[in-house]
Amino acid sequence: MVPEFTNEPFTDYQVQSNRQAMEAALREVQGEFGRQWPLVIGGKPVTTDAWIDSLDPCRKDQVVGQAAKAGQAQAQQALDAAWVAFTDWSRWQPAERARLLFKAAALMRRRKHLFSATMVYEAGKSWPEADGDTAEAIDFLEYYGREALRLAEPRRLPHLQGEDNELMYKPLGVGVVIPPWNFPLAITVGMTAAAIVTGNCTILKPASLTPIVAARCVALLEEAGLPPGVVNFLPGSGSEIGDFLVAHPRTRFISFTGSREVGTHITTLAAHVQPGQGWLKRVVAEMGGKDAIIVDATADLDAAAEGIVTSAYGFQGQKCSAASRAIVLEPVYQDVLGLMASRAEALRQGPAEDPSTQIAAVIDQSQFDKILSYVEVGQREGRLLVGGEPDGAEGWYIQPTLFADVREDARLAQEEIFGPVLSVIRARDYAHALEIANNTEYGLTGGVYSRDRRHLEQARAEFQVGNLYFNRKITGAMVGAQPFGGFNMSGTDSKAGGPDYLPLFVEAKVVVERF
Ligand code: NDP
Repeated sequence: MVPEFTNEPFTDYQVQSNRQAMEAALREVQGEFGRQWPLVIGGKPVTTDAWIDSLDPCRKDQVVGQAAKAGQAQAQQALDAAWVAFTDWSRWQPAERARLLFKAAALMRRRKHLFSATMVYEAGKSWPEADGDTAEAIDFLEYYGREALRLAEPRRLPHLQGEDNELMYKPLGVGVVIPPWNFPLAITVGMTAAAIVTGNCTILKPASLTPIVAARCVALLEEAGLPPGVVNFLPGSGSEIGDFLVAHPRTRFISFTGSREVGTHITTLAAHVQPGQGWLKRVVAEMGGKDAIIVDATADLDAAAEGIVTSAYGFQGQKCSAASRAIVLEPVYQDVLGLMASRAEALRQGPAEDPSTQIAAVIDQSQFDKILSYVEVGQREGRLLVGGEPDGAEGWYIQPTLFADVREDARLAQEEIFGPVLSVIRARDYAHALEIANNTEYGLTGGVYSRDRRHLEQARAEFQVGNLYFNRKITGAMVGAQPFGGFNMSGTDSKAGGPDYLPLFVEAKVVVERF
């Protein structure tokens, strides 16, 4: 009997034994700096003559590890291996596949600090951010295991005289799983677990900036008993092997999370039917956001400022759900600005390995340059109130940055920056605030701080986002309780971590027998 799903608790690092366990894990990861991780194709390690260096964003000369880099030849081998494995894996009972996920969850729980420590160095996640990522990965394994059991339960169909009718769900085949670097464990595990627990085989192409934690995750799945070829691990360039795999006629589905630019490209490429292709490809694409929090005139202003600052600068603003716009009503505008500015200034910036660090470095040189170019744009489009200073000597550090008086149609208020830059926009009244909030091409997360019940109900109906939060931060959706996915150019609204997710990886078959 499988116990009811509960979320993995977060680690309290005030507790000395937890702190010591994390310190030991950090040392263990340091001891493996520079380790080389091969591709895994059909269960076998494969190396090529090219390597991807994974760097520590806080100490950019430090190579955390090297991942073998696949080319198109290895991508073809991985597809072949996955289809070979599919014959057997698709016939495993759902309960057997679910049990494998539960075993993997147990292994990950035992080694949670090792996974978190890897992300501290590879992604620049502070201790609590890394711990949250690991906890979410464990949640996905536990939750999708249970969802697979639910999906396998017999469906009640209306009775027809003299006939037996059955509806069952069948796996799609072989798919490509393409996660981003910003939740390099949780999203990688979530997308992979959902695909395999429903009986599919996959090629996992991790983000090139964070392949090491993904490699650890594949090793863990193998240890849990995953048969060869069910998950093939294939680091490599998105444009080279990503395009090859997405366009390939033997790819059945693509599960992608990442930027709007790449997501729309993949959707377009996958729509072209190639010679020899025997199906229309299914694409799940979760993409970016330009997420806003409205502060109403009746709001608890301290709570609002706290929630906005946490949502805007946690993990350096590099979350799809991060607040990048604060829309504040005229009567409380100056007060909220002051409260946010003092909190943003007080954030402790430093290396992610230091447990007192709240804000670390951004992921790489290209994001560093891109964010700074927006800071420059902000000097023209708004009034710089806090931060804006880079320090690129050791790592890619950018101070938490706050621009006031930004116009709703400014580039700063429309384009996803994906860094610690918050724009504050003034609204005449509540209707205007909602209008501004909805005025982007995205629709991922949003929030309202208000004590006015009518205003909350209005937002419930009219704020066009996939995940809407009232009187709290807008990041940190919990698996199970808060299924996650966005509207419009934020993607296909797949609602990861919810009951609608696994059906995206199966097709329904109905068998009718005349008795
Ligand atoms: P990217 O779109 O740059 O990359 C995502 C993945 O796609 C990477 O593995 C990348 O590989 C791969 N890729 C790149 N080009 C191609 C291609 N032509 N064909 C196939 N695959 C390709 O996103 P980031 O990794 O920079 O992630 C940040 C983005 O993700 C933000 O926009 C953020 O909002 C979004 N995101 C959305 C979430 C959601 O649930 N809606 C959750 C988390 C993030 P490589 O690394 O080799 O380039």
